[in-house]
Amino acid sequence: MARKMLIDGDLDNSNQGEPHYDFDLFVIGAGSGGVRAARVSAQYGAKVGICELPFHPISSEVVGGVGGTCVIRGCVPKKILVYGASFGPELEDARNYGWELNDKIDFNWKKLLHKKTEEIIRLNGIYKRLLSNAGVKLYEGEGKIVGPNEVEVTQLDGTKICYSAKHILIATGSRAQRPPIPGQELSITSDEALSLDELPKRAVVLGGGYIAVEFASIWRGMGSKVDLCFRKELPLRGFDDEMRAVVARNLEGRGINLHPRTNLTELVKTEKGIKVLTDHGEEIIADVVLFATGRMPNTKRLNLEAVGVELDKTGAVKVDEYSRTNVPSIWAIGDVTNRMNLTPVALMEGTYFAKTVFGGEPCKPDYNNIPCAVFCIPPLSVVGLSEEQAIEKAKGDVLVFTSTFNPMKNTVSGRQEKTIMKLVVDAETDKVLGASMCGPDAPEIMQGIAVALKCEATKAQFDSTVGIHPSAAEEFVTMRSVTRCVPKPKKNL
Ligand code: NDP
Repeated sequence: MARKMLIDGDLDNSNQGEPHYDFDLFVIGAGSGGVRAARVSAQYGAKVGICELPFHPISSEVVGGVGGTCVIRGCVPKKILVYGASFGPELEDARNYGWELNDKIDFNWKKLLHKKTEEIIRLNGIYKRLLSNAGVKLYEGEGKIVGPNEVEVTQLDGTKICYSAKHILIATGSRAQRPPIPGQELSITSDEALSLDELPKRAVVLGGGYIAVEFASIWRGMGSKVDLCFRKELPLRGFDDEMRAVVARNLEGRGINLHPRTNLTELVKTEKGIKVLTDHGEEIIADVVLFATGRMPNTKRLNLEAVGVELDKTGAVKVDEYSRTNVPSIWAIGDVTNRMNLTPVALMEGTYFAKTVFGGEPCKPDYNNIPCAVFCIPPLSVVGLSEEQAIEKAKGDVLVFTSTFNPMKNTVSGRQEKTIMKLVVDAETDKVLGASMCGPDAPEIMQGIAVALKCEATKAQFDSTVGIHPSAAEEFVTMRSVTRCVPKPKKNL
């Protein structure tokens, strides 16, 4: 193994009695969080190295790729497929707007896939350029921690090189996990679902989280028969119960077969396709079975136990409020810490890490009022507390305002699908504690509402805001009547 000691322009810190390092910071993993942390640290003057595996644009076998899960096999390709899937129902809606669509309309999956791959390759190039423009040195290979200040990078040809760094940042993200159901090897995860050779005519999706409802919507929008099986009464555990029911109704309204309270017991390969057996005795034949059953932190191959970095019971790296592990020179951000597994949160953690370590401004990420969206069709977007959380946390009674309406576009298209918006307010302080929306453009609208909640806006301030007419968004500032008041629960003495 080669030992890389000095690289061009290395910091000469040997005179100051400090050990000599190749880098001020070495980042393992060039996903959203790792790239952000590397670039911002470099802007503060740090000498930064980063390693990441190269990716194969078509094969889903190889993990890695500068840009990480979000860019290569997550948010970005998924959103492209959501756009692709949305045209189908939109074309149907266009008929009553005067569009004559008499000839057969074909959907070409391969074309969309090709366009998607082109875009991912473009973004991968942009991310690489962002790193080099910031002066960050990229190593294409797999990183492993071999000491509190040492990272070993194994390149594709098997060569191992060791780099020393004053600080090491783990930003290796997460990967899909599958439950051990007999025949599970016949299933795919979201990695493969984003690069299928053929559009499945019949798909079974297991899970009720983000990925499950998003892929169910994508395939259904493209015309596939979709069966969605999940363990609970409603999908999207953790979200506001009322909104979960709305999502379920909309998925069903768009033609997805929902199987609540359902587990899969076996997958069997047959001539007709994959036979999916459920614990309700059902048999569903599918071309593709997607397991969307959560993700696990990528810590297994990092050698963390050997250097004493503590993990929690899910295998995530344990960190303090500043993203520092129990080994003072080693830090971690993003999904690998399993705090709030969203790209913008990893970006925040990466920025705050750089400010803390190299910017001379210690700062802790703030996890309050983080908005998010589930890109099912139509999408759900929320910020702040659900009604259930508000009842637990509010100082006073909880006032719930809801608005359910037929979006103006549907009045002419004839689509039977209501939009619902909801605000939960603390009656004692008048503060808006949470907002939710399920309907077209919900994520675009919720981003602005998130600013209001971050500023601790009151319901009176929402009411005094003038609406934009005619829009769906204006409903957020015109909800005057309380739908219900949930009294503050009496605490047991
Ligand atoms: P989630 O954690 O959102 O959901 C996992 C789902 O799998 C749950 O419905 C869970 O059911 C179910 N599940 C878990 N184990 C089993 C099992 N053994 N048998 C049956 N069902 C099971 O995970 P996802 O995989 O959907 O997404 C991973 C993460 O990626 C998300 O949490 C999110 O942080 C991120 N993400 C964000 C997106 C966005 O911002 N739009 C899009 C996609 C992903 P139960 O509820 O019963 O436990």
